[in-house]
Amino acid sequence: MLEIKNLHARIAESGTEIIRGLNLTVKAGEVAAIMGPNGSGKSTLSYILAGRDDYEVTEGDILYNGESILEMDPAERAAKGLFLAFQYPMEIPGVATMEFLKVAMNSQRKARGEEPLKVPEFIKRVKDAAGTLEMDFNMLKRPVNVGFSGGEKKRAEILQMKLLEPKLCVLDETDSGLDIDALKIVSDGVNALRSPDRAIIVITHYQRLLDHIVPDTVHVLYKGQVIKSGDKSLALELEENGYAGIIEEAA
Ligand code: ADP
Ligand code: MG
Ligand code: MG
Repeated sequence: MLEIKNLHARIAESGTEIIRGLNLTVKAGEVAAIMGPNGSGKSTLSYILAGRDDYEVTEGDILYNGESILEMDPAERAAKGLFLAFQYPMEIPGVATMEFLKVAMNSQRKARGEEPLKVPEFIKRVKDAAGTLEMDFNMLKRPVNVGFSGGEKKRAEILQMKLLEPKLCVLDETDSGLDIDALKIVSDGVNALRSPDRAIIVITHYQRLLDHIVPDTVHVLYKGQVIKSGDKSLALELEENGYAGIIEEAA
């Protein structure tokens, strides 16, 4: 589903290279974890996948279902089923969450050649999804993320993901800012989305999230490269020994 080949990318403004020859393959049906020390380029990779224009790809390619996405704008990528849950979800004053969800869901449906949802059906879907995430429905009448706590913002990201039914989900440190109960609820929400035709990339610092969302593969990102890949035991090894050993081995 996703094939990243020898990707090099830099910050457009300063020219600083952040992604330095990154290779990664993720298959449909797979849950892949990306781990790595702070500053290794995990969030940058997620932004580049989503198509944020502060970054320039200078070499390599990103294939999604065999097709290069590098020339596609973020809306085209989203229409094709790509979704990013942000590490730091943005507040959008003046846009009610319900309105935001309706526009997003209906543009997604349009891209799939489906009719817009009727209002009662739309409300039902949002209520159901919010219920499973234990979110207060009234909160969704407020502007997107404005005044939400850290944990509520993360739940709101997963709510969007559930409602948009993307094919490739990228979750950037969804666990940060969540207490243990919320972590369980959000993880259940993510696990419910596991399916043979969908891939989920979970970016995290901590093994504890991977106790709830058990990955098929684990990749260690360091200085803009994948320096080691393995199965879920790699995450346990990292928890035990830290990154130092793997970084030394790679060097
Ligand atoms: P991670 O998510 O793994 O913690 P990031 O992708 O956030 O790492 O950052 C990787 C490196 O790139 C860091 O050194 C960060 O400071 C730098 N960086 C990323 N984006 C920008 C930007 N827009 N401007 C300046 N530096 C950036
Ligand atoms: Mg970081
Ligand atoms: Mg990050």
